[in-house]
Amino acid sequence: MAHELVVTASRALLPAGWQAVEIGVDDGAITRIAPAGTGLQGLRTVEVPEDQVLLPGLVDSHVHVNEPGRTEWEGFASATRAAAAGGVTTIVDMPLNSIPPTVDPEALQVKRAAAEVAAHVDIGFWGGAIPGNGEQLRPLHEQGVFGFKCFLEDSGVEEFPPLEPAEMEADMTILAELGSMMIVHAEDHGTLAQAPQASGRKYEDFLRSRPREAENVAIRAVIDAARRTGARAHILHLSSADALPEIRAARAEGVRLTVETCPHYLVLAAEEIVDGATTHKCCPPIREAANRDLLWEALADGTIDCVVSDHSPSTAELKLLDTGDFGAAWGGISSLQLGLPLVWSEARARGLELSQVVGWMSSGPADQVGLQDRGRIAERASADLVVFAPEKSWSVEAESLWHRNKVSAYDGRELVGVVESTLLRGEEVDFETPRGRLISRTEAAAPQPQS
Ligand SMILES: [Zn+2]
Repeated sequence: MAHELVVTASRALLPAGWQAVEIGVDDGAITRIAPAGTGLQGLRTVEVPEDQVLLPGLVDSHVHVNEPGRTEWEGFASATRAAAAGGVTTIVDMPLNSIPPTVDPEALQVKRAAAEVAAHVDIGFWGGAIPGNGEQLRPLHEQGVFGFKCFLEDSGVEEFPPLEPAEMEADMTILAELGSMMIVHAEDHGTLAQAPQASGRKYEDFLRSRPREAENVAIRAVIDAARRTGARAHILHLSSADALPEIRAARAEGVRLTVETCPHYLVLAAEEIVDGATTHKCCPPIREAANRDLLWEALADGTIDCVVSDHSPSTAELKLLDTGDFGAAWGGISSLQLGLPLVWSEARARGLELSQVVGWMSSGPADQVGLQDRGRIAERASADLVVFAPEKSWSVEAESLWHRNKVSAYDGRELVGVVESTLLRGEEVDFETPRGRLISRTEAAAPQPQS
């Protein structure tokens, strides 16, 4: 019998490695993977050209969509178009910078309603843990959020205040019971308060205002709380490589800890950031080239589980590109559409494999959030597929990105690797008809065992 779709590729990235295959797709799922030459019949066919490869759709578990409330910063329509253009077929939205923030079930409903009509890729949601909302954690969990985000330092928006470490630990006791997880913006408030304050155009001054020690101290607090409560914890956007030894030790000891980093920490370096370039402001900050090398080592040895965007846009005005004041500019870097070519270009230059990059950006985050039906090309998985030209060069033009605000730390950057097309449940994303679905933890498999 003919499949609804057959995709043929001479190089498809399967869990076992590169293979020449024919892939049968029915009802949006992969139903058959056969060796090339089998002759599967399809009502539709997609043939991946010889110079292109077939990858599983990427999963980006760290995206600030900002709708409703700050839709002028991004929004579901533009974010999910950018995602699809970048080969990302599932995003998980952060609980802040939207208004309302996702800190109770009513807010989750508001966000779902906004997302449902505009999504070009699948969308899940994180809940938020803020002072005083402990009673909302269980209902939010029951309504399908993938876990809870908290800050240990000011978040940048007043409606999402940080937790004290003791409050975080109290919430983690609840999350341990629920089988949920705490994901943490790990910079310590007390340490930052002691650091020189950032102001002006010098990147060096901004870097000094967000020292590694702030991350190291906060990560220690997260590890301690995870150890004492037994809850799963996840370190968001790791920048300080100093924290790696303690992370390795905690995991070796059995603390349930996962770690992500982001393209900007892997691709950019403090030494190259010119003064006034507030396009490059984010928190924690981009650090020195030597620190970046250690993050790459930690990816290669498995200490860091995944690479996700921390796509955190704002309007161009809030980046204060005219004054270049690092103290006052919005901190956040947009890279939802660019993650794969950014990380691949740098990995390739370092002699690493595309299969490793896809592991960090697809199965890695899928496993972190417990989505076993995606992140890999396998029978029964969702037919979320990316056709990628790994050796094609191009240069970034901020103006032509789908991101709502055309401010980019990567404008003009030469990259290797082009996303040629993206299939969501076996249908090519056309950027007009929103076919993304809302996904929730209740549909996802049980959390992964920790490595
Ligand atoms: Zn973020």
